Amino acid sequence: MRAVRFHEHGGLEVLKYEEAPEPKIDANEVLVKVKACALNHLDLWLRQGVSDWKLPLPHILGSDISGEVAEVGSDVKGVKTGERVLLCPGISCGKCEMCFKGLDSACRSYTLFGVFVDGGYAEYVKSPEVNVIPIPGDLSFDEAAAVPLVFLTAWHMLFTRAQLEPGEDVLVIGAGSGVGSAAIQIAKLVGARVIATVGADWKLEKARLLGADEIINHSRQAIDEEVRRWTGKRGVDVIVEHVGAAVWEACFNSLAAYGRLVTCGVTSGGEVKLNLQGLFGRQRSILGSFMGGKAELLEALKLIGRRKLSAVIDSVFTLQEAAAAQRKMESREFFGKILLRP
Ligand SMILES: [Zn+2]
Repeated sequence: MRAVRFHEHGGLEVLKYEEAPEPKIDANEVLVKVKACALNHLDLWLRQGVSDWKLPLPHILGSDISGEVAEVGSDVKGVKTGERVLLCPGISCGKCEMCFKGLDSACRSYTLFGVFVDGGYAEYVKSPEVNVIPIPGDLSFDEAAAVPLVFLTAWHMLFTRAQLEPGEDVLVIGAGSGVGSAAIQIAKLVGARVIATVGADWKLEKARLLGADEIINHSRQAIDEEVRRWTGKRGVDVIVEHVGAAVWEACFNSLAAYGRLVTCGVTSGGEVKLNLQGLFGRQRSILGSFMGGKAELLEALKLIGRRKLSAVIDSVFTLQEAAAAQRKMESREFFGKILLRP
């Protein structure tokens, strides 16, 4: 099959469009003919190399996958050849305490497609049967591939970690990111008031169309000052954050008493200062979040199938153009998900 692989870590030039062996499935696995695969910032980290993670090389990236079932293993009963499916990105053991609690991403053997197993930058990918989910409603393959990782992450951040309540004020950092665009929609759907940030003026209107009540251009406005003004000096109840160091202080200063800051990423760096007085005095919480459980994805998919929530697609590239697609992601000149089609 054709696939995009890298044989060593490095810049965009290490991505090679080449011939690779077609995956062989076990009895409990399913072979999926990939129709679309969405990019995530994770792909860039993995290509460059993450010091704690020793990836199998050569490696195929891609955590967000939709496609058609091409073949099923002999023990697979719930999935049929030809079915239109998307893949739950997280792979866990399904047998441990955390898995039974629905906290799959805390499973000790947790991984994602495109991390310790091959992903969707290819014509075919193999998947455990339990990760295969029928595409809900009339979603296209592109729309289905753009959903899983970011909606799962945003859902877990807002509900499981921050325990968002109707009517609360939510600050979403980076409306144009996948997680940001999902978080704005989910928060609005449950009756929150949302203030979102963007880094360029051309993204303002797009953030407004997603439902944001107020939008800050953080390249020329101070996030904490704007939040103070918008909330009458009170601050916001929940912050969805994935940028890290560059916005940390402004975010912390924007939290109301009993506010919860949830973070799932560090694209601008992971070392920050913490004012403990501001933490305990105002009884604030700082929460880490990583992916989520399959059950959370199924909940989000119900609403996606009914078009109450939808993935935002920025652009579609061919598989062969994977390096150009990643370059676009690095440039930040996008709003929503960037997709590859084999
Ligand atoms: Zn487990």
